Amino acid sequence: MNILERYHAMDYAPAPEARTEADAWLAARDFAKSLFIAGDWRAALDGKSFETADPSTGKPLARIAEAGAADIDAAVVAARRALPKWSAASGYERAKVLYAIGRAMQRHQRLFAVLESLDNGKPIRESRDIDVPLAIRHFIHHAGWAQSLDKEFPGRKAAGVVGQIIPWNFPLLMLAWKIAPALATGCTVVLKPAEFTPLTAILFAEICERAGVPKGVVNIVQGGPEAGAAIVNHSGIDKIAFTGSSEVGKIIRKATAGSGKKLSLELGGKSAFIVLEDADLDSAVEGLVDGIWFNQGQVCCAGSRLLVQESVADAFIAKVKTRMSRLRVGAPLDKNTDIGPLVDRSQLDRVKRLIEEGAKQGAVCWQPDHDVPQTGYYHLPTLATGVAPANILAQEEVFGPVLATMSFRTTEEAVELANNTRYGLAASVWSENVNLALHVAPQLKAGVVWVNGTNMFDAACGFGGYRESGFGREGGREGLEEYLAPSEPHGPVIKPASAPKPAARDNGESHGIDRTAKLFINGKQVRPDGNYSLPVLTPKGKLAGEVGLGSRKDIRDAVSAARACKAWPEATAYNRSQVLYYLAENLSGRVEEFAARIVELTGASHKAAKAEVDTSIERLFYYAGMADKFEGRVHQPPARTVTLALHEPVGIIGIVAPDEAPLLGLISLVAPALAMGNTVVLVPSATAPLVATDLYQVIEYSDVPAGAINIVTGHAAELSAVLARHDDVDGLWVVAEADTCAKAEAESTGNLKRVWTGHGRSLDWQTAQGEAFLRRAVEVKNVWVPYGD
Ligand code: NAD
Repeated sequence: MNILERYHAMDYAPAPEARTEADAWLAARDFAKSLFIAGDWRAALDGKSFETADPSTGKPLARIAEAGAADIDAAVVAARRALPKWSAASGYERAKVLYAIGRAMQRHQRLFAVLESLDNGKPIRESRDIDVPLAIRHFIHHAGWAQSLDKEFPGRKAAGVVGQIIPWNFPLLMLAWKIAPALATGCTVVLKPAEFTPLTAILFAEICERAGVPKGVVNIVQGGPEAGAAIVNHSGIDKIAFTGSSEVGKIIRKATAGSGKKLSLELGGKSAFIVLEDADLDSAVEGLVDGIWFNQGQVCCAGSRLLVQESVADAFIAKVKTRMSRLRVGAPLDKNTDIGPLVDRSQLDRVKRLIEEGAKQGAVCWQPDHDVPQTGYYHLPTLATGVAPANILAQEEVFGPVLATMSFRTTEEAVELANNTRYGLAASVWSENVNLALHVAPQLKAGVVWVNGTNMFDAACGFGGYRESGFGREGGREGLEEYLAPSEPHGPVIKPASAPKPAARDNGESHGIDRTAKLFINGKQVRPDGNYSLPVLTPKGKLAGEVGLGSRKDIRDAVSAARACKAWPEATAYNRSQVLYYLAENLSGRVEEFAARIVELTGASHKAAKAEVDTSIERLFYYAGMADKFEGRVHQPPARTVTLALHEPVGIIGIVAPDEAPLLGLISLVAPALAMGNTVVLVPSATAPLVATDLYQVIEYSDVPAGAINIVTGHAAELSAVLARHDDVDGLWVVAEADTCAKAEAESTGNLKRVWTGHGRSLDWQTAQGEAFLRRAVEVKNVWVPYGD
């Protein structure tokens, strides 16, 4: 072989990572006792166990104790016992523990990385350089939050005992995302790793022992869906934090409905990777490799849908194929490996099945001409072209190394295609014109947008989804919020309304000219679709008037009007602020009229009713002022990038307002929603709806665009359920009796809308104002913008 031939034949020699220490750790451990409860290592009470295997060979690594309901119960009891002391410890005390965990993990960094690659199959380069360092950063970053909590979140308390359930794709990193903020805020935890990847959580529990984590603060239980369900359903848990599939997320949403448990869901995705024609194509190819083939595509935010502008599509696809041909498929512990095995045979079968189905639906699937190792669950990187937008490969989360490709002509088309999914986790936008990229980013329905990059994460920046990718954020300030108890001022328990009995006969007073209270949809007063009315009685049973009996059809019309209203979400915050001020101004001209209405419908004294109207006006003023002040932030993660944490409206928010304080309750909920650019479908108090129908004229005079606020009167419980089931409603806030609140949560799973309820209690409406309401009215989108040559 001459030198030139040698040069062309040059290939990487294997560079295996040593596994001696990992094997020694595996051999020395008694895995029969692998449940970490109250600081002890325990076997499962019913003696059950399961095996975890190396995905690159299928060979078993260890047999792990499997927690049953009794073990979960013991873990919850331990966490509850540890809670008072841990949550009362000073921020400094908690910070020292978090720091000690981070430092101890650093000392065992390599062991963590090798174990992770053995158990999950991910290339050692990824576990060593990404997963483990990021997990450590989470603990060290959150030490600082523990210490500054009192200053940054004054008066807030820990959410309590937290049940945490995580998937297998980033076992240690997901554990860190869950445990670090929980410990920082003073919560205690019961965490369940995924059944395919229990090992690094066991090593982490050992680290907790060494780092001085008090007994019972961290409990780690192993097992599968049954153990997960036992955590979800345990009455001793105050909050569930789940990361996993949207399917299981929906089950958990239903299971926790009405329980009062706080819930955050980090679910699946089908993220768009958008290449505009002025992108640096070579950089974009490298980004794409990371976007879809990192961790074999088993990444929730994988850029699994390539959208490329038609003018550069052929050139780009050719470059992608060339690069795919150079990806090295092989053993996870080889430092040169780009693509390791999938986690389990079941996952491999699922990927193959989806590819077959995609091909049947017209996709052309291409793979490089590589050998794959004979053992293990390997799958070649796959490129699907000719993918129609409805193809299963464009819609379903494959969770494997499969890229679906589509092209577009205009930027508008790219945005439309990108948003054509039920998910909303992440997106990448590639363009050398940063103005254009930052024009596209806000239009994408995704919780994270990377400009000219992909898969950038940091403990200081929130991560989480829109739509069926779940709700809540992990990381940064937003992430801490998930582990703090709600801060709204509680009011009394709401009893199911007992309608006043109609008086035997009218006393013959004159009613003046008969006024018809209709519904208010798309800026117009309209009759209810069913053409039925509801009597509105005073507390003494006298007929005060009649309102339209709204139905499912009316809610649908109201939602369509709210969706069609672009003028409100697209208005500047200053503009929205002026409209809200104007509403306050116009209401202030009719104080006596509204006070009289409140007196008539609630039996309140004139003084109390007038005070309610005055406070409502003040509240409108407050939110008018906040419309252009409750802004996002800029983060500076440890990389050459700025991260813009933008506040965006949730979308359409359904609001079911309370009977009590019929004007102030309604304004306290509607005003923050409108201030942040949401459009609203309001179901006003069922006992005093005339207060809301009297508002129509005020709204009409105040330059509120048609469709920004829509009002449907009727039976609140029924209309609340209709809003909960409506898949085009993005958020739902309900203050009503417990049963209506529980139903709103249970029936919201269609599109996983963001539901907030008072859990059967009212609020103290005098003080129900402030950041908690504004926060609920926004989604935080993190836009990452790298800089430098
Ligand atoms: P999965 O939903 O099947 O399992 C996740 C976890 O839930 C596991 O620990 C499992 O044992 C447990 N579980 C399963 N059924 C349960 C039930 N009925 N009740 C309670 N717990 C139950 O998901 P998976 O296959 O392990 O992970 C892949 C999914 O995770 C993908 O959809 C991926 O997108 C998602 N994910 C999301 C993020 C994110 O941050 N958004 C991050 C990583 C992974």
